[in-house]
Amino acid sequence: MGKKISIEPAKRVKDLPPYLFAIIDRMKEKAVAKGVDLIDLSIGDPDMPTPKHIIERMRKAVKNPAHHQYPSYVGMLSFRQAVADWYKKRFNVSLNPGTEALSLIGSKEGIGHMPLAFINPGDYVLVPSPGYPVYPVAALFAGGKVHEMPLLEKNNYLPDLGAIPKGVLKKAKLMFINYPNNPTAACAGRTFYKELINFAAKNNIIICHDAAYSEIYYDNEKPLSFLQIPGAKEVGIEFHSLSKTYNMAGWRIGFAVGNKEAVAGLGKIKTNLDSGIFQAIQEAGIEALNTDDKVLEKIRDMYQERRDTFYEGLKKLGLEVNKPKATFYLWVKCPKGISSMDFTTLLLNKAGILTTPGNGFGAPGEGYIRFALTVPVKRIKEAVERMGKVI
Ligand SMILES: *Cc1c(COP(=O)(O)O)cnc(C)c1O
Repeated sequence: MGKKISIEPAKRVKDLPPYLFAIIDRMKEKAVAKGVDLIDLSIGDPDMPTPKHIIERMRKAVKNPAHHQYPSYVGMLSFRQAVADWYKKRFNVSLNPGTEALSLIGSKEGIGHMPLAFINPGDYVLVPSPGYPVYPVAALFAGGKVHEMPLLEKNNYLPDLGAIPKGVLKKAKLMFINYPNNPTAACAGRTFYKELINFAAKNNIIICHDAAYSEIYYDNEKPLSFLQIPGAKEVGIEFHSLSKTYNMAGWRIGFAVGNKEAVAGLGKIKTNLDSGIFQAIQEAGIEALNTDDKVLEKIRDMYQERRDTFYEGLKKLGLEVNKPKATFYLWVKCPKGISSMDFTTLLLNKAGILTTPGNGFGAPGEGYIRFALTVPVKRIKEAVERMGKVI
């Protein structure tokens, strides 16, 4: 037998904060092992299947031998054309599919790689807090520094751009923002985006807008694309995911659109790291982007019923919560004097309900928990009933 080598993870891996959802997963496993009838409201993973017409297109595409070879790095032009057509139809934004659109292996992949394309050691990446944990981790992996922009209720969960220190601004190169927002469910309006674009232009910062929830909205109030605002394409890009809109989280397909230098930079990293998306999945993606609005309305109606049921239930229990205009999350204030983690533990141990503690998304999330509307109405009613017995 040879000598066993010592395998040490890299410093960047050792320094990682524990991935929030991995901790939640362990709590969940323990409860399930104990036989708890768990109501899992912790993770934003759509519970309904992918619509049939998308699966049917995949079934046909998978038989085409042309798709069995390496895909193109930037994505099939037909997929990027479908993206451009969708943008025109949905947002009235014109995109050149050749230079202003890039396919991604899920938007998480693109977000994760973005800092590698633009950040030098010591450069700052501005990230919302609470926020999607991938933004700061991606910045750190690229050797960048992270500056957290607190999202506070008193500012309608929009970052206070004027509060970013001058020293940070000088070295800031990228900013991640995300509306409709995960985890707070807040939306951003035209005024904010205008301010953001001016800010980016003045300080030479690339804006990366994560629009994963642009199609999960309520009461027919459609969220804006950042690219609808004049000047946006000069300063940034927008990330989209097919995961949430079309119940396709497992398929791994998304895209980035906007500023062509930003798109090309990200494309360059990808060319050297991955070899694109299975083309049969891109064909299914084209089918998804052409989905009849009626199918999407049904999905939205389903979430709306869940939202209304849960919102009303939580109000009756005396909890403080805003009614979300978009996303499938409820951002709920913990009862007075109880921390996010304590409230999460109480709900798990006493009510068999799994949620996500707000501080897991960043310190300013302390005092909140996030519920995902990814279980049927019947289970939401049951969750409210169980909560009524323990709070
Ligand atoms: C779900 C989610 C994503 C990732 O989506 P994929 O396309 O499945 O990688 C990105 N950003 C936010 C805020 C999300 O909640």
